[in-house]
Amino acid sequence: MSKNNKNVLITSVLIVILIGLLIAAGVKSGDLNFSVLFSQILGVIIIFAFFIMFLLLIKKLAPQNQPPQVQVEMNTGIEKDFKIVPTTSNITFKDVAGINEVKEELIEIVDFLKNPEKYRSFGINLPKGVLLVGPPGVGKTLIAKALAGEAGVPFFYQSGSSFVQMYVGVGAKRVRDLFSKAKAMAPSIIFIDEIDAIGKARGNLRNDEREATLNQLLTEMDGFEGSEGVIVIGATNKVELLDEALLRPGRFDRRIFVELPGLQDRIEILKVHLKNKPFKGNLENIAKMTVGFSGAALASLVNEASIHALKQGKPYVEESDFYAVKDKVLMGKKRLNTYSSTEKEILSYYQAAKAVIASWLGVDFERISLVKDDFKEEDKEIISKTELMSKIETLLAGRVAVEEKFNEKYSNAHKDIKKARELAIKMIQDYGMGDRIVGDEGEIAKILDEAYKETKVLYEANKEIIERAYELMQKNEILHLEDIKKIKDEIF
Ligand code: ADP
Repeated sequence: MSKNNKNVLITSVLIVILIGLLIAAGVKSGDLNFSVLFSQILGVIIIFAFFIMFLLLIKKLAPQNQPPQVQVEMNTGIEKDFKIVPTTSNITFKDVAGINEVKEELIEIVDFLKNPEKYRSFGINLPKGVLLVGPPGVGKTLIAKALAGEAGVPFFYQSGSSFVQMYVGVGAKRVRDLFSKAKAMAPSIIFIDEIDAIGKARGNLRNDEREATLNQLLTEMDGFEGSEGVIVIGATNKVELLDEALLRPGRFDRRIFVELPGLQDRIEILKVHLKNKPFKGNLENIAKMTVGFSGAALASLVNEASIHALKQGKPYVEESDFYAVKDKVLMGKKRLNTYSSTEKEILSYYQAAKAVIASWLGVDFERISLVKDDFKEEDKEIISKTELMSKIETLLAGRVAVEEKFNEKYSNAHKDIKKARELAIKMIQDYGMGDRIVGDEGEIAKILDEAYKETKVLYEANKEIIERAYELMQKNEILHLEDIKKIKDEIF
């Protein structure tokens, strides 16, 4: 029964008792006058009606001490009734395929959650905040759940947007509640999906509610020690949009990048999702036709293929089922970029050339994949003009190589050209590396022209290595610096 109903019931019982008493008093004194009695009863009812209205008014004016809490359904983000409750996760690292590169860091976090005392006794504070950065569907939520499952700790899921409400103060209150619950159940994991909904950089447009919520999040994160055993995991695909304050030491200072799966990773992910299904065929073939698919897209591909096989009355899911439903899955995921075989050739040659020229010029990288390169950020205070030119030449290497090989210019070069131009602008306008101390557009173009010419020379000199690297890139969709070194050793 709600509180309001209870009040009404109690008041009604009191009214009935009072009327009873009045009648009893009238009977006792022998002068039961009905018109007097009636006006007395009316008076009592009116007084009580005022009393109830007064109570309701006070209740409405008083600050809500129980704000609506949100229970967000796992995966869907749909708000049901308001309540922050943890779940237990039975997902483990076995369920997350192809994340070998980040696994070590995750294992360390699990150990911390399992044995916080061990770390406490050595005065070690492990990260309070971990940011999982990557495009949608690559398994960020899955990783967070696997952490909770491996460590056997409660898992609090909240979506960033569920904090940002219309009413000022509600979001902040929810953040406070979330942390106090998680701390009470420590060790535990708080997972905030789409954290950019709260943590977007505070631009000119002010949003008081979001700001209040963000400030509360910052306060909460500062307010507990890492050794308390609560780890806050945030997921975003736009780390560059996040407010600087969130990324400071002691907050989300650890970042784990989760990328679209490469060829080998896709094979592993397909294996996980086909685990309990009868399958006949070659997984590598399927993985090869799914460049650009996220883990989530692969999961739905497996599902659709199984339905297809079932409808055909087959005892197995086969490769042909995957080919039959691929387009359907793609249509459902409009933003997915998959590549035709020609596009894959162009990209492979483009990226292979960048890898080879970078290794020639000593521009540091670990690996370059079909869809992403991994050039190290410069952490030097002073950079020379030669180093900057090498960077620009590396950025132009893909364009030059593809133009020479395919005798055509393609739009995929736009990001690198933009970066090259930005570097050239800095060189000319900030670093005074042109003919004049502060040069104009003409000088910027001159730097880029020079770099372009030099890159053509470098391309001719490295053509054989690039061709070999291209073959490897087509096969594996990734090139490591080691691979380039090996090719060079074989040729020379
Ligand atoms: P994100 O949080 O990055 O948007 P999710 O974790 O919600 O992605 O992934 C959605 C689903 O896709 C998962 O529940 C899982 O079925 C599948 N998936 C994604 N990545 C992987 C992976 N690496 N291994 C296995 N399945 C994956």
